[in-house]
Amino acid sequence: MNRNNENKKNHIMHVAAISLGLLVALSACQNTPKEEKNATSQGSISATMSESKEAPAVTLRVIASTDAIYDFTKLIGQDRVEVVDLIEGDADAHHWEPTPKLLMQINEADLFLLNGAGLESWLPDVQASLTGKVKSVDLSDGVALRKGEEDHDHEEDHDDHEEDHDDADHDDKEQHEHHHGEFDPHYWLSPKAAAIQAKNIYEALVASDPQGKEVYDANYKALQEKFEALERDYAEKLKPYSGRSVIVPHEAFGYLFDAYGLKQIGLEGMLADGQPSAKKIAEIVDLAKKEGIKTVFYEAYGDDKEAESVAAEIGAKTAPLYTLEAESKEDRAKGENYFTFMQKNLEALVDSFGGK
Ligand SMILES: [Zn+2]
Repeated sequence: MNRNNENKKNHIMHVAAISLGLLVALSACQNTPKEEKNATSQGSISATMSESKEAPAVTLRVIASTDAIYDFTKLIGQDRVEVVDLIEGDADAHHWEPTPKLLMQINEADLFLLNGAGLESWLPDVQASLTGKVKSVDLSDGVALRKGEEDHDHEEDHDDHEEDHDDADHDDKEQHEHHHGEFDPHYWLSPKAAAIQAKNIYEALVASDPQGKEVYDANYKALQEKFEALERDYAEKLKPYSGRSVIVPHEAFGYLFDAYGLKQIGLEGMLADGQPSAKKIAEIVDLAKKEGIKTVFYEAYGDDKEAESVAAEIGAKTAPLYTLEAESKEDRAKGENYFTFMQKNLEALVDSFGGK
């Protein structure tokens, strides 16, 4: 995927597209309370009698910085929460920029749920502009974070001006912030680590809305069971392939593969920062031939050009893999979520090893 360059080229269009998406999201949000208000006033005579039977009004407004956070928050909070997904449409988790409208929405929310681990490179700027009551929560708390690729990149690309720019940024950030690239931010792709993220979401919801605890408890318990089932599935089905290598679109699978004994070979690095060099491709081709790799994965929703060219050289096929950094509205409307995408990934991995 070459989104970084694309972003630079189409910067203005990109921002305009996000703003447009926001307007739509904003008007959608504004409709909900209005409809509820109407319903309540129409049924005001019987309201006191049947109060407990009615769907509870939204009590928390939550901003989710990733699709996984969106999914977990909806599953735990259901009707009590209204969740805005920061990253919608064409953007992905690494290449996203806040707009004034979205800043306003964040400012007016109750909870601002963040992946942490350095994923939100825009966070210091955004937080500096917040004046409202919104409470920010870093959901990586309790996750054993993997080291990032920052040092490695700086040694290799010391003459790259963009990397120098990152260095300058570093000094401006508060010390407790995880610098973009210091850690691998993709922990949500490991069911075990994602379960910790979900626990942190559950605790944040209960702390902000203690009256909803009973609802959150029940939903969270069901969610924990889903995580346990997913972990069991991954462990069972990947066990025979421990030690194998997988060509992935960018190095997002460290946590997942560490957990199940697999190795990732990224067409792009951890931050999805541009196309691989000819030298890197040659290395990947070499390794893929040695290991008998039969599938080259590309980013679901992304472009498969790089994967196709590597696959052609080694006589492999290409297939999509979800990093869950972008979730299409269409798929979400069809009921797809974190768990269905993780199942698709598991099937795709097993298939790539020649299993069923
Ligand atoms: Zn990524």
